[in-house]
Amino acid sequence: MQKYSITRRDFLRNSAAAGVATALQPKIHSLAGPVAIASQNGFAAVARAVEEINAGADALDAVIAGVNLVEEDPNDITVGYGGLPNADGVVELDSAVMHGPTGRAGAVASLQGIKYPSRVAKYVLERTDHVLLVGEGAQKFARMHGFSIENLLTEEARETWVRWRETLSNRDDYLPPHGPDDADLGETFHRGPDHWGTIHCSAIDLRGNISSVTTTSGLPFKIPGRVGDSPIIGAGLYCDNEVGAAGSTGRGEANLENCCSFLIIERMRVGDSPQDACLYACERIAQNTHLARLQNETGEPAFNVSFYALNKAGDVGGARIRGQAEMVVADRSGARYIEMAHLFP
Ligand code: ASP
Repeated sequence: MQKYSITRRDFLRNSAAAGVATALQPKIHSLAGPVAIASQNGFAAVARAVEEINAGADALDAVIAGVNLVEEDPNDITVGYGGLPNADGVVELDSAVMHGPTGRAGAVASLQGIKYPSRVAKYVLERTDHVLLVGEGAQKFARMHGFSIENLLTEEARETWVRWRETLSNRDDYLPPHGPDDADLGETFHRGPDHWGTIHCSAIDLRGNISSVTTTSGLPFKIPGRVGDSPIIGAGLYCDNEVGAAGSTGRGEANLENCCSFLIIERMRVGDSPQDACLYACERIAQNTHLARLQNETGEPAFNVSFYALNKAGDVGGARIRGQAEMVVADRSGARYIEMAHLFP
């Protein structure tokens, strides 16, 4: 196995030499909101969030209203209604919210039959003394608060799942015994780029308060009960009203093992820009990716994780492990796509 090791200084030097995108962000400065950021699938979500904020909404209500548009969209196969199901053909949703002014968080995981997991996560935040409810308990709690159970499996998602089942062979998430240097475990399942998704959205409201939400159907065809990074506070999102907010999409397992949203907030606390803090988290994942089966031929992570962040001043930025991509931002001038930095081309 090629040992992968990159220091921050190496990275900055190498990436500058290789012309890798490092500092492409247009800086956006504001003393307070409205500012909203989201993953690339959140153009309508940030526009809605800013609309809500301009009408006087708290940032938490605004970001939830934004992502609700994606949760109810059957054409987004990575979030809410229409999301691809688990290995048993059941849609299981994960979501978390965090409210800057109170420092409170709420989350649900492996939630079945409820189209808007982000709203249930907000109920967990407001109407319990807990942070995370899972599975049947989360569903019972949602019913108690008036949510109705719906079939979230669209025909398109069911057909995709059936195709996966019918061509399964050994292409699933169960692994045979193997060592750190084993790269080839037989015919393993590679998720296509279309199967990654999730939406993260963070915003600053007119009072300068910050809040965040992440919501997803998780990895398609996951082992039933699998929980990704999205509903885990500190991984799928983190928000500190004095510093800023961060969230993620991509391979949740890598983020869970590195607690990157919390890491990004702490880097911004000591002065990193949002983009630099996101790049730092990508580097951390790359440094901690030791297993051959997760690396490409040159020892880099063979998967992707993306991070999105904003700070208290309204600066925004994002970074991902591999390849060019865009995220979205909305403020007084409207919604637009902006380029993210990346660690590897
Ligand atoms: N991060 C999500 C998860 O691991 C998946 C995604 O972003 O596509 O559940």
